[in-house]
Amino acid sequence: QAKQLGRNRYHLYDLDAAKDLQTRHRELERIRQALQHGEFRLHYQPKVNMRSGRVIGLEALIRWQHPEQGLLSPAAFLPQTEHSPLIVDIGEWVLHEVLAQMAVWALEGYELPVSVNIAARHFHHIDFVQRLQEILSEHPEVSPHLLELEILESAALEDVLVMREVMAACQGIGVSFALDDFGTGYSSLTYLKQLPAETIKIDKSFVHDMLDDQEDLAIIEGVIGLAGVFRKELIAEGVETAEHGLMLMRYGCDCAQGYGIGRPMPPEAVAEWVRGFEPDWKWPLWAENSWH
Ligand code: C2E
Ligand code: MG
Ligand code: MG
Ligand code: MG
Repeated sequence: QAKQLGRNRYHLYDLDAAKDLQTRHRELERIRQALQHGEFRLHYQPKVNMRSGRVIGLEALIRWQHPEQGLLSPAAFLPQTEHSPLIVDIGEWVLHEVLAQMAVWALEGYELPVSVNIAARHFHHIDFVQRLQEILSEHPEVSPHLLELEILESAALEDVLVMREVMAACQGIGVSFALDDFGTGYSSLTYLKQLPAETIKIDKSFVHDMLDDQEDLAIIEGVIGLAGVFRKELIAEGVETAEHGLMLMRYGCDCAQGYGIGRPMPPEAVAEWVRGFEPDWKWPLWAENSWH
């Protein structure tokens, strides 16, 4: 098609490409500045065991408190950084911030596990394990056993052998792993067998559709079965309603995270949320009545 349009057309493409490059460069510079000026925030979303009503941990999720545009979600700025060294700087900031926050919570008597999303490029960075160790040692009040790293299959895709080695080194210092958005990649099964992650997170797209899509429900059943065989912990994301929660529990997945349980919230709100949650938890009772 482009060929038919002739040489002038190619010329226009080049101009477009140059402009794109410039725009991307400017965007990256702005994001770097945001990091330096302290415009990033972390929100925390609770993870619970729906059967026992216990809070089992939190996931840290980055936000950009943009001076003009308000609070931006990661989709608005993280993808731009994923092929740049900036993702490493952002990732290290997140780890520092999470550990500092965990130290505060520990002082207040809340010792909850926290998981952190790690980008593929960051995880494969040559210094990853050493930097992680340094960051952990700067926060000696926090046990590395409370830190979990969430990685995507796409991160593993790059090089399974290196991946396994890096994971094992992290586990050697007490840090654990979850495979995020599980089931959305092409090679979930192979990676499940090869990667030493402790936990699988069922992707929210399957949970969202499982009530009226037999195939999504079948995928969830399959993942729950696999978790059993491979002895992995299991948690479902995207639980928005009691129906989602009940269906998951019925099929054997008791742990969940989602808007129906708790939205991502600023760190100041976490302790009060945790205090209020356990006594109020009603789904298991509900479940008994509605199943018979
Ligand atoms: P994720 O790790 O799979 O996180 C779950 C996403 O689903 C979060 O979106 C969360 O707010 C959202 N979510 C939670 N419950 C529900 C629900 O019931 N329904 C729906 N529709 N969505 C729900 P968020 O915060 O916009 O983050 C999007 C993605 O950005 C994350 O997906 C993760 O891959 C990435 N991300 C977030 N924070 C970080 C970070 O600090 N570092 C890196 N590298 N990636 C991050
Ligand atoms: Mg995640
Ligand atoms: Mg996910
Ligand atoms: Mg995701």
